[in-house]
Amino acid sequence: MVAIPDDSTTKQWYMDHVNSGLLGLLGFMGLDSAEVEASGWTVRAADGREFIDCVAGYGSYNFGHRHPAVVAAVQAQLARMPMSSKLLLNPVQARLAHKLADMTPGELQYSFISNSGTEAVEAAIKLAKLKTGRPDIISAKNAYHGKTLGSLSTTHREHFQSPFRPLIANFGVVPFGDLEALDAAISDTTAAVMLEPVQGEGGIRVPPAGYLTGVREITRKHGVLLILDEVQTGMGRTGRNFACEREGVVPDMLVLAKSLGGGVMPIGATIGTAEVWELFQEHPLVHTSTFGGNELACAAALAALDLLVEGDYARQSEESGAYFLKVLNQLQQDFPDVLAEVRGQGMMIGIDCVSKDACELMIANVIEQQVFIAFALNNPEVLRIEPPLDMPVSVIDEVISRMRIACEGTRQIMEQFSQIQG
Ligand code: PLP
Repeated sequence: MVAIPDDSTTKQWYMDHVNSGLLGLLGFMGLDSAEVEASGWTVRAADGREFIDCVAGYGSYNFGHRHPAVVAAVQAQLARMPMSSKLLLNPVQARLAHKLADMTPGELQYSFISNSGTEAVEAAIKLAKLKTGRPDIISAKNAYHGKTLGSLSTTHREHFQSPFRPLIANFGVVPFGDLEALDAAISDTTAAVMLEPVQGEGGIRVPPAGYLTGVREITRKHGVLLILDEVQTGMGRTGRNFACEREGVVPDMLVLAKSLGGGVMPIGATIGTAEVWELFQEHPLVHTSTFGGNELACAAALAALDLLVEGDYARQSEESGAYFLKVLNQLQQDFPDVLAEVRGQGMMIGIDCVSKDACELMIANVIEQQVFIAFALNNPEVLRIEPPLDMPVSVIDEVISRMRIACEGTRQIMEQFSQIQG
């Protein structure tokens, strides 16, 4: 096992060899202690603090930290063959592709396996271009699809895009939830429309009912592909195994990552129809990955998909999410001067704070209460709550009582600020 240095050494090494800015950011939020152990929804730090995890690796720990079924599957695979030569057939990857075809909706049939969300999105962008021969992808305002250059061209936040321009030219952007704008934006150079069924980093934005159905109709009408990015919404997070199932919408490509690895291994998957895969089958080497499809990650994903069904995680997410929303709405009514609005689907919940300052204070105060909470990457005025899907009501109640203390603290500081100001 790797020897864990004490906190002051870890901080020094972050300063000298990782990223001093990142260390500063974590320190500002009270998070500059090493993580030494985690299980379920509990994370322990080297300084002795024990946190309740309501971020779950930004949607990566739907089944909690270190789920024993996933750990056991990975250990068994590790003992047999962690990585293969890549020259012979890979039966674990084949089994995973077969299972994904079985579990994902409609005609989705073929999978390209990679190592992360952004890689899975890159594959979808390239396969859409390959299939249609057209250059452009349309995505939504505030979308988050990853930060490699192709994905970044569809991740619409100025702060992330501007230092890296020019990005891929002519990728379109439309307001999320607006069907008319989408209809008008599609042109004869459009290869695909790519959307998150519920925007995660955009601030947990749930679109109007019927939106995805409308998007499917419009993309069919124009003969362009529909890519649904379920990196964050997939694997039970929104109360369905895959969020697109709520409206029975079947995309041409579905993108998964994060919790697909069961919280134990990194993995991404781009799953498409036979039609989308046509030219890729003719030219199988146009898109490849050395580690994509490695046996360890595929074994973790197979265990995670089994768990999803056997543990009824989507139902747990729907029920616990409804309870969380109810008690958070009560909290919002008690602190309208701090929290403006609560919304979500399943265990994917966002809280609008009254201002960016209120959001920053809330994060610091909630973390002081030893609950992990974070802001949405494309929308720093929104607190996001995305716990493991099986968090019981008793733990949710404990989170709420700690958040209540944090709200009181935030209110007091905001009152002091406004007194000083005038
Ligand atoms: N797509 C969505 C919807 C995401 O939420 C994320 C990450 O948060 C990504 C893609 C990128 O995933 P990764 O960070 O694994 O590259």
